[in-house]
Amino acid sequence: MFQTVVTRGVFAVHAKRPPRARMKALLKEGSRVSVQMMPRPELADSRSAIVRVTMAGLCRTDLYAAEGKIKVCDPLVLGHEFSGVVEEIGSEVEGLKAGQRVTVNPVLPCRKCKYCLDNNSAGCQNSTFLGVDRCGCFAEFVCVPAAQVLPLPEGMSDLAAAYTEPVAASLAVLKANLDASQKGLIYGNNRFSHLLKQILHVKNLTNVTIYDPVADAGGLDEGGFDYVIETFMGADTLSDLAGAVRPGGKIILKSRQYEPVALKMTELLKKEPVLHVCNYGSFEDAIDLLATGKIAVDELVDGIYELEDFPRVLDAAKQRESLKPFFAPGGNR
Ligand SMILES: [Zn+2]
Ligand SMILES: [Zn+2]
Repeated sequence: MFQTVVTRGVFAVHAKRPPRARMKALLKEGSRVSVQMMPRPELADSRSAIVRVTMAGLCRTDLYAAEGKIKVCDPLVLGHEFSGVVEEIGSEVEGLKAGQRVTVNPVLPCRKCKYCLDNNSAGCQNSTFLGVDRCGCFAEFVCVPAAQVLPLPEGMSDLAAAYTEPVAASLAVLKANLDASQKGLIYGNNRFSHLLKQILHVKNLTNVTIYDPVADAGGLDEGGFDYVIETFMGADTLSDLAGAVRPGGKIILKSRQYEPVALKMTELLKKEPVLHVCNYGSFEDAIDLLATGKIAVDELVDGIYELEDFPRVLDAAKQRESLKPFFAPGGNR
């Protein structure tokens, strides 16, 4: 009799737990990046949300992660720029519901340090990053802290919404208090620099040109710019920027260069430039600019691919940096 009860109990536990559903994901294990079937993520805690990924953009950080140039956790689902639909929410999540269309801020503050507790999570030095420190969005589903989930306005396309993170990153340069009367230079000819130029135009900063350090090499106007914005950090970039900025002008550093760069003080001293290093602007402003069509992303899109296309998309993205490729892993069910 006793034996029968135990057997029923065990059976009941198993009956409640069906095998975890599986999903397709672009997984980095060791140095290998490949499409794998893996268990769908479950809610990490009561303040998390599961998002079905509808559109995910590839950026330089993903290339560095795939190539092992930046340190990432292992194994890891790559990707951090995306839009999607809320699939499931934890019991303590407020203001979100299943079926809602969203994007996600991939910077995940620790929520414990003095900056986080002071409502200034931008100052958090223990923050982690989606697709680098924990599994990201090149998968059908991703689990994220609900506090980083941003609902989308009606009518905003999945593609535009997946552009939110790079637009928020571009908006960071406005922290340098740029003036419409000033003459600016964007250093680097790439996806980010073209997006940045559009954003500066929307903000009435129209006197700005893009400089390609390869194609335009040697053509920089010495001391000719009130501000210079770096979007590509090569060996000569800081020297070029120090040369191009006027005395007392602004040098704005924006790229996420993983290798150390040399700063030649003798080139900088006489210019006495102001140095701004900028990370992110407002994600809400980014969504607004994209949803209202003030920023047109269509001309910056390379194409929409399957996760299986990753090797050739990666190769192409390394050669041609001006357009952004996207993946649509979670479909449009
Ligand atoms: Zn990015
Ligand atoms: Zn913190």
